[in-house]
Amino acid sequence: MPKGVYVRTEDAKRHMRKPKTKAHCEHIRQGKLGTVFSKKWKENIRLSISGSKNPNYGHPRDAATRLKIKIANSGPKPYLRGKNNPNWRGGIYPLVKRLRNCPVYKAWRTAVFKRDNYTCRRCNKRGVILNAHHHKKRWSILVKEAIKQNPCMNPYDACICYAPLWRLSNGITLCEICHNKTKGDCHER
Ligand SMILES: [Zn+2]
Repeated sequence: MPKGVYVRTEDAKRHMRKPKTKAHCEHIRQGKLGTVFSKKWKENIRLSISGSKNPNYGHPRDAATRLKIKIANSGPKPYLRGKNNPNWRGGIYPLVKRLRNCPVYKAWRTAVFKRDNYTCRRCNKRGVILNAHHHKKRWSILVKEAIKQNPCMNPYDACICYAPLWRLSNGITLCEICHNKTKGDCHER
């Protein structure tokens, strides 16, 4: 964006005064999706509606109303989950990332580390960042196999149910450096 002062012409101002169409609103919404608010930004928003600037300032609520608000603001909100959430982007979160965060994967990884005594099996280093590596058969191949085996299930559930993906014997503990060396090395996987 160029620096300096924007000079708005009369034509531009007239354009800005025009009422927004639905398509325009949607365009703005799409542009704002996934915006990360910085700490300073959040603080500015907080300050702009705190104290006497708040529309509720000077209008105390009775106990019953406060209780109603409390109930409405607590507990799970199914109406904001998944597709109902305004930040929903059509379920684009990658399957591999979802699998890597699931409890089954974490349990498998911990089991591999424990079996190898938290030591890299190649350079025998300890106390470094460790990775659990699928060394006999590639992880990506196993994921594809799992989806193929259970075509009627959704891909995530199919992977969770596919035992070969979580076989301890297919896991090996490697440090980050050794793990990076295996990438692109077909014989090692
Ligand atoms: Zn190593």
